[in-house]
Amino acid sequence: MAKKQFKAESKKLMELMIHSIYTNKDIFLRELISNASDAIDKLHYESLTNDSLKLKKKDFEIFILRDVEKRTLTIKDNGIGMTKEELETNLGTIAKSGSLLFKTEKEPKKDIDIIGQFGVGFYSAFMVADKIEVNSKAYGNENAYTWVSEGVDGYTIEETKKEHFGTDIILYLKEDTDDIKYSDYLEEYKLRELVKKYSDYITHPIKMEVTHTTLKEGSETEYDKTTEIEIINDMVPLWKRNKSKIKEEEYNTFYSDKFFDYEQPLKTIHTSAEGLVSFNSLLFIPSHAPYDFYTKEYEKGLQLYSNGVLIMEKCKELVPDYFSFIKGVVDSPDLSLNISREILQQDKNLKVIAKNIESKINKELNTLKQENREDYEKFWSSFGTQIKYGIYNQYGMNKEKLQDLLLFATSKEKKLKTLEEYLEGMKENQEAIYYACGESLDKIDLLPQVELVKEKGFEILYCTEYIDEFALSVLQNYKEKKFVNVSKEELNLDTEEEKENLKKENEENKNMFLCMKESLTDIESIKFTNRLKNHPVCLSSTGALSIEMEKVMNAMPNDQKVNAKKVLEINANHKIASKLKELYKNDKEELKIYAKILYAEARLIEGLSIENPTEIVSLICDKLS
Ligand code: ADP
Repeated sequence: MAKKQFKAESKKLMELMIHSIYTNKDIFLRELISNASDAIDKLHYESLTNDSLKLKKKDFEIFILRDVEKRTLTIKDNGIGMTKEELETNLGTIAKSGSLLFKTEKEPKKDIDIIGQFGVGFYSAFMVADKIEVNSKAYGNENAYTWVSEGVDGYTIEETKKEHFGTDIILYLKEDTDDIKYSDYLEEYKLRELVKKYSDYITHPIKMEVTHTTLKEGSETEYDKTTEIEIINDMVPLWKRNKSKIKEEEYNTFYSDKFFDYEQPLKTIHTSAEGLVSFNSLLFIPSHAPYDFYTKEYEKGLQLYSNGVLIMEKCKELVPDYFSFIKGVVDSPDLSLNISREILQQDKNLKVIAKNIESKINKELNTLKQENREDYEKFWSSFGTQIKYGIYNQYGMNKEKLQDLLLFATSKEKKLKTLEEYLEGMKENQEAIYYACGESLDKIDLLPQVELVKEKGFEILYCTEYIDEFALSVLQNYKEKKFVNVSKEELNLDTEEEKENLKKENEENKNMFLCMKESLTDIESIKFTNRLKNHPVCLSSTGALSIEMEKVMNAMPNDQKVNAKKVLEINANHKIASKLKELYKNDKEELKIYAKILYAEARLIEGLSIENPTEIVSLICDKLS
């Protein structure tokens, strides 16, 4: 019978397994048991939602069989089984979790760890076996098939006889070496120990034939041996166990096993609630964003169980979008199993659970912020953007809930601050919370508008993400202090006298500004300002749309371009101001050329492009030569 070839990535993963120098080969058992349990969950779920299947939870089981003579270890389940096609696609190609491994495997140092912590799946069995046979009969099918492989050079699939639906995975263990005794995996004590360590919480019984040795009655040297079939796992899922008796390591293993993350979670939240709706939940805040987190492909959601039976892999109704990074499990006896998934989404109890979970996560994040700032900042760097979207979305409906989670870099210290901390550092009589937007902290720091505000002793929030300004404009204020963009025209920092003088000055030069404006097309107005210290000019905006917003919106891939209402502000105390006045008197044409150059300068400082660079360059050249 011709051998079929594995897909290239599968072959690579398999080689990694076969030649693995990884010492913890034990995890293969956890992987196979977890697959068996998933297969049972699938069939169990079918039976609960389809009355014609007469299957009972108590009939499901996973069996571990040892054959010392043949050196085989078999993991047997009566789950959903696989058709011929499924054997081909599931075992001939690398599974999802495996391909994820390859993404991270490119970082060479990490791969050894990954094998231990990751769901590497079925192929991990090649760490301990040199031949694997999979006999499977899909539920409801007549035919059964056997899949056999002795490693990288391929596999065969043939029809076989199998009475019961489900899957048997038969491992032909490798020969023992000086270093590794593979035959340990045929020892009762060893298998017991491994099940206890890794698979205790599996909710289906894991059975094994065990031998009990007792002294023969009346004898002190002779023993009686009896064998019986025993359930060797606890069957209580981790989330239903008593918190105080769970070690951190158990949580971490559970997390990496279930959610395929090679890094430990930043925080584990284990709760149980009793009341109108009872539920247990085990939630995790990951310590980094998954590679697809900020893409459309990422799906949020928690695993939903009803009394230990998995009913949904990703129930998205359980977490709001702004907490979409949360991974975890929710188990409630108060959800009806037989209702369809569409109806479940309307379920009142589910809504109660979701609300409860949301406030729990929020509370935990606030506690983390207070008690472990380093970890919180780590969280913030991965998921802060998501929180800001949460503030902005739905017309700011959730802003109050989320505002205290915000962190910003500021003009004062090189550390992140909460809004609360900003308020604490405010000057006496300071009326507003100032912020400035730009591409990077350094660039913002150099903005002309920022200079004077800083010099007057006000702290400025530095916003480098495009969502920042949208979020702040939705927030409007924090504890009655208004957010004010330092680049907005109505920044109000002058004394009454200064204001008065400036007003007069602008009034007197009104016609000069009109003359300058003639040469500029997309500007709202021109005026003198006190807000600049050393720089000659800057751009500000009036109205709701700021210049930063204009940049963001125009960068989006659609044809709708927007235009902020721009004001060209000229430093009233700069020598350019008197030069302009002089030109207005003596040479209006030259004044218009100055206007063009100054406007181009202001745009460049703002990070905007100039429409007519060749014209501007030749105007400047004229002045230089
Ligand atoms: P993963 O479990 O992460 O998807 P695996 O390589 O462990 O990756 O398994 C690949 C696929 O093979 C599974 O997703 C499942 O569809 C199928 N499979 C594995 N073991 C069994 C089993 N005992 N019963 C039914 N299907 C199984």
